[in-house]
Amino acid sequence: MKFILALDQGTTSSRAIVFDEHGAPRASAQREIRQIYPQPGWVEHDPHEIYVSQRDTAREAIAKAGIDPTEIRAIGIANQRETTLLWDRQSGEPLHNAIVWQDRRTTALCAELRAAGAEETIKARTGLIIDPYFSGTKLTWLLDNVPGARARAERGELAFGTVDTWLVWRLSQSRTHVTDETNASRTLLYDIHRGDWDAELLSLLGVPRALLPDVQPSASVFGMAAPEELGAAIPIAGIAGDQQAALFGQGCHRRGMAKATYGTGSFMLLHTGETAVRSTHGLLTTPVAQPSAAKGTPRGFALEGSVFVAGSVVQWLRDELQFFRSAAEIEALAASVPDNGGVFLVPAFTGLGAPHWDPFARGAILGLTRGSSRAHLARAALESIAFQVADLLEAMQQDAGEKLSELRVDGGASANNLLMQFQADMLGVPVVRPRVLETTALGAAYLAGLTIGLWRSPQEIAAHWKEDRRFEPQMDAGSAADLLARWREAVKRSLRWAEND
Ligand code: ADP
Repeated sequence: MKFILALDQGTTSSRAIVFDEHGAPRASAQREIRQIYPQPGWVEHDPHEIYVSQRDTAREAIAKAGIDPTEIRAIGIANQRETTLLWDRQSGEPLHNAIVWQDRRTTALCAELRAAGAEETIKARTGLIIDPYFSGTKLTWLLDNVPGARARAERGELAFGTVDTWLVWRLSQSRTHVTDETNASRTLLYDIHRGDWDAELLSLLGVPRALLPDVQPSASVFGMAAPEELGAAIPIAGIAGDQQAALFGQGCHRRGMAKATYGTGSFMLLHTGETAVRSTHGLLTTPVAQPSAAKGTPRGFALEGSVFVAGSVVQWLRDELQFFRSAAEIEALAASVPDNGGVFLVPAFTGLGAPHWDPFARGAILGLTRGSSRAHLARAALESIAFQVADLLEAMQQDAGEKLSELRVDGGASANNLLMQFQADMLGVPVVRPRVLETTALGAAYLAGLTIGLWRSPQEIAAHWKEDRRFEPQMDAGSAADLLARWREAVKRSLRWAEND
């Protein structure tokens, strides 16, 4: 038996999973990581904790699998995207905590870039919009706010990296400074069409080129994990940002296939083949992770939409309103009423992402009557997750000009059958849940396994994908359209609420 180790460094935890050659998980380990909130709107992680938690879960997963580290053929990495680190090349010491993707401290800098008319260039080259979400302005902030950082960066003494780059740097004991295309594409500094860092964008954001890692295809050998770290010298042979890894792990390798992940937030990606579709509906254009068996393989792209609050609306009902003890209980509560009773909940707690991109939207509950109950609110909360994903899909279909045939789902909240059925009803297409829900880690494992020849082709691994349950649309199209129209009306009323705060 041959094994692949997948590292899944997420926003709230580090996970490691050992997969066997059939793509079946053999053992896993997980450790939470600390969320640091120095000021409202700021979110940081401790770089050492990111690495140590990841290394320790890897050791634990290998031990639990009952195998020797030398039996691991390759490592695949999937990581929280956009989170930004800066460290000293000599000592390896970070100059600052990692600035997490959720961090909004560069809102003003983004407004300046927009005012300077950079939006068009950035969109055309990177497929992104100007938003604090992406790494570029976070790096600019570090260079401008850590004393001496800019001068040292210009002298070539420092290294920038997203989380993948940091993990490889540490696993290789400071030998390797690399990233993959999917992570590079989230920095605002990378031209997704040419496949290279962009000199004009670097100068726009004031980022010295000497800081940047080399960019490689997602399925390639990036370096070696040192024996002192994981117990054997193991090639790191696959890297992708978490959402691209999940798209790959879901077997969505061709144009027209899509997946949605229902975690804290929700992320939907639609593969658009070799075409980098430019969105006119607030979506992002992003490279997909793919095996690059032969040089010159045309690059693939996806349209991406992100919803900031999805599963976390359930946590809000649990923790702030104390509706139930565990997230899973929401399903029974919501199912105790036949419908939402006219109640709509817009969970715009941190503004709204795609397709609205309104940082000033705030949460709202509309349609309350004297008869509205906890169950109606629970139902409205679950429905809000599905409505937001339906809005993404609609934007995607308009941008891509084609209809989806099914949506593959994963993430913690995809376990909720009521939510998945309602999602199918709102989309009007089947929603399909796979047996292995760890699609992010699986995608990373697949990329690594393809690189070293453990698997031969994407077709071979796509055949591993097994359905757990399929949710067919049941609601009549008229009722679904009425609900969506009411939802959109509710969203309108939440927009720009905090503009003058
Ligand atoms: P992440 O990777 O973003 O931390 P997960 O994929 O682990 O998230 O999913 C956790 C999220 O899913 C939480 O926000 C939780 O509230 C939500 N969740 C978990 N189980 C259910 C459920 N049965 N119904 C609805 N939401 C759920």
